[in-house]
Amino acid sequence: MSDNLKSMDKLVSLCKRRGYVYPNSEIYGGFASTWDYGPLGAELLINIRQAWWRDTITARDDVVGLNSAILSHPGVWQASGHLEHFSDPLVDCKQCKRRFRADQIDRDACPECDGELTDVRQFNTMFKTFVGPVEDDASAAYLRPETAQAIFANFRNVQQSSRMKLPFGIAQIGKAFRNEITTGNFIFRTREFEMMEMEYFIPPGEDEKWFKYWISERISWYRRYGLNSDKLHLRAHDKAELAHYSRGTTDIEYDYPFGRSELEGVANRGDYDLGRHQEVSGRDLTYFDDATGQHVLPWVVEPSVGVDRCALAFLTDAYHEEEVPSASGKMQRRTVLRLDPRLAPVKVAFFPLIKREPLQALAKELQDLARSEWLTYYDETGAIGRRYRRQDEAGTPYCVTVDFDSLEDGAVTVRDRDTLVQDRISTAELMDYLREKLAWSREAKTPA
Ligand code: ATP
Repeated sequence: MSDNLKSMDKLVSLCKRRGYVYPNSEIYGGFASTWDYGPLGAELLINIRQAWWRDTITARDDVVGLNSAILSHPGVWQASGHLEHFSDPLVDCKQCKRRFRADQIDRDACPECDGELTDVRQFNTMFKTFVGPVEDDASAAYLRPETAQAIFANFRNVQQSSRMKLPFGIAQIGKAFRNEITTGNFIFRTREFEMMEMEYFIPPGEDEKWFKYWISERISWYRRYGLNSDKLHLRAHDKAELAHYSRGTTDIEYDYPFGRSELEGVANRGDYDLGRHQEVSGRDLTYFDDATGQHVLPWVVEPSVGVDRCALAFLTDAYHEEEVPSASGKMQRRTVLRLDPRLAPVKVAFFPLIKREPLQALAKELQDLARSEWLTYYDETGAIGRRYRRQDEAGTPYCVTVDFDSLEDGAVTVRDRDTLVQDRISTAELMDYLREKLAWSREAKTPA
């Protein structure tokens, strides 16, 4: 029997215990809604980025990458509409002074103390800063609240230098900053986060087809890396909810422990973005279509997701508590992160059965071979069962144990995190065995 995660507290505590996520500035009492990724968390993020980059860019011939600056000319934010529209409705409680997003509370009084609320005012959520030593309007700049705008601003550069033909995409991964009024739910909503965005440029009017295509591609992507299909949902925005640039938006939602919420947004942006940048910059951003001999302003479909929110969905989905038989056959409770092996931070852990030579030397020798391909871990302390449990919690898919028989038969035991099956594999074949199990091309396992 296996229990899924019902409360966020258990995940937050596992993440800290195993080195996935720590509260930022903890030794100073923490810093609101800001988190740092530890050794395993940093690796998980790398693997998520890598999976997205491979599948969005490397494995296709119609999408190329970009890595743009966080700061940009303020004209970018004027053209994009962020200076004018990127705001949330804010109310203050006159009594306890707490602040709320007006659209996130369903009553006229303060949800905390019942006090009277101020009138709603619009609060721009871009972080403003100043470039250079003088703090005046001329030196004002903004930390990007999304990575998409630099893709539009570079549309011409990328299209011409890469000689891309419509339809084609430009994708990038990078930090974004939003001065959110209400943050929370661990790494779900923070003020500094990382985005993976792709702008897919299409011939005008072909939006319906590509919008559907990208929604379906993105849902398949989550399934491919093991997210439980039953927890993934599509939600189309109604007209009143649409952002100023959008002709249609569908959210991919996930059932987090705190409820169903947005994981990724897929937006049909029409020609709003290139049109606005063309207007404000005064530069021609049209695309010349060889086939028709005409200049057109491409339309855009955008899938956009936060790396951190993605990590939260994968961690939530992977978390299981279950009863499993120990070596002696007694049932024991374990917590296991069933992360897809491609996303798991440590791929293989190596243990000598006991802390003694030559078992230690052989375990380290095998680890050295594996180290050139994956992140590995060596552990010789404590009972073997305890070491397995630690790796289960860390999400390590395979543990290799060197025992006394290994010295005679040249074989080791490889234990599978999910099935608990222990295979006896010869040391000469170990690397090929692991390569097959950990290959990027492997099919996703059916989620348990
Ligand atoms: P929300 O409705 O949750 O505020 P949004 O619709 O404003 O999100 P988008 O502008 O569509 O979000 O951003 C695209 C993606 O970026 C989201 O689907 C989410 O994965 C991620 N994201 C947005 N804001 C945050 C945040 N404050 N913290 C972490 N991730 C975020």
